[in-house]
Amino acid sequence: MTRLLLIGPPGAGKGTQAERLALACEVPAISTGDIFRYNVTNKTELGLEVKSFIDAGAYVPDTLTNAIVADRLKEADAAGGFLLDGYPRTTDQVAELDRLLSAEGTQLDIVVLITADTDEVVSRLLKRAVEQGRADDTADVIRHRLDVYAEQTAPLIDVYSARGLVVTIDGLGAVEEVTERILAALTERGLCASAPTT
Ligand code: ADP
Repeated sequence: MTRLLLIGPPGAGKGTQAERLALACEVPAISTGDIFRYNVTNKTELGLEVKSFIDAGAYVPDTLTNAIVADRLKEADAAGGFLLDGYPRTTDQVAELDRLLSAEGTQLDIVVLITADTDEVVSRLLKRAVEQGRADDTADVIRHRLDVYAEQTAPLIDVYSARGLVVTIDGLGAVEEVTERILAALTERGLCASAPTT
């Protein structure tokens, strides 16, 4: 059973790695960004509420985000572990996740911090803008997202480090290499049982 959180700046490769790790560890990848984008695309009530925040590169208010995650974690597939991508991102969200998990008598097993320097993440996001046309991948909005990350989310690394949960992984290099680095760190800690053990 693995309860894993992926953290890192926009463009570090969390979404890409989340999908690969979810397959390898046989747990669902839960991405708040994906959930929001799905709702925006389908013009649901939630989507209409969050669109302006996302397009501006601002965080969606905690009350909305916390409620979405609480619902998602209650689904049956998350009972045996999960991979969180993009949540929590604020200290209030950390408190809410702690509350949700302790109500179930569980806690996070590991926090994987994926690092990449600013030049690299900006160039990746600008490339993604061309490929995927995300409204929040323009130069101005990218700059803002990086600022918001530094201000609101980077402090979470200290919070989780104090709990001894953080493992730092270099996000530069081929996608497969980064996955291997993460899987190695997980198996070393007896996590992600279905990963190849060497
Ligand atoms: P990235 O990390 O690459 O910027 P995501 O897909 O994780 O992209 O998130 C896209 C947007 O969705 C964020 O800029 C924000 O507006 C919103 N969002 C996602 N997760 C959260 C969260 N935990 N709290 C608040 N807003 C969030």
